[in-house]
Amino acid sequence: MKKWKTTNNCEIYQITNGRANSYLVMDNDISIMVDTGIKNSYKVVMEKLDDFLDGNDLSYLVLTHSHYDHVGNASMLKERYKTKIIIQKSEAEYIMNPKSQLIPHGTNLATRVGLGLLMRIKSKLNKFLNFEAVEPDILTNNDHSISSNCYLIPTPGHSQGSMSLIVDDEVALVGDAMFGVFWWSVFPPFADDVPIMIRSWGKLLNTGSKLFLPGHGTENSRELLEKQYNKYKVKYP
Ligand SMILES: [Zn+2]
Repeated sequence: MKKWKTTNNCEIYQITNGRANSYLVMDNDISIMVDTGIKNSYKVVMEKLDDFLDGNDLSYLVLTHSHYDHVGNASMLKERYKTKIIIQKSEAEYIMNPKSQLIPHGTNLATRVGLGLLMRIKSKLNKFLNFEAVEPDILTNNDHSISSNCYLIPTPGHSQGSMSLIVDDEVALVGDAMFGVFWWSVFPPFADDVPIMIRSWGKLLNTGSKLFLPGHGTENSRELLEKQYNKYKVKYP
């Protein structure tokens, strides 16, 4: 299992990978799960968390945004580990009522064509996107401190209410604000508002973080993000 450690001894473990990443952050005795993976990965999530938490509750579940592949096990986590769910205000209705979920815009020709095809079979899509509705506990729309070394910042663009968890100003867990699938690019295949997303990259760089853990793929270096930010901020001023 992939693991990272910050100067102030915060530990970050990757809980799921493949279809969608989720992470567990331990800041001393505060446990913070970031995203949940898809519903089908519930067994992996449960086994690992049972092990890590050893009978303790999960302090918080941070949902970077409401897309089905990030929130699939939120309901199970709340029930099993008595966790408090944190999400941005503008995303909350989509986890309370999964059918209301918005489909993001494709950022390139392939994803735009693909989405067009998917929309034509929307009834099937609804089934595919399904997850159990769940009530959030803490709604934010601004910076929000969680523990002595961890805080949330809004990083909109992929969706209106996307946010990132900053650990020790060293590691940022960014959801789909960027992608980690290509070694040459962090640009995600879907985004509601590209110029706003690029500005969020600037905000993430301003935290001083050196490593960016995305919802899909592997970690992005600060060097790559800086390169991409400088390129796209000219294209989308
Ligand atoms: Zn997403």
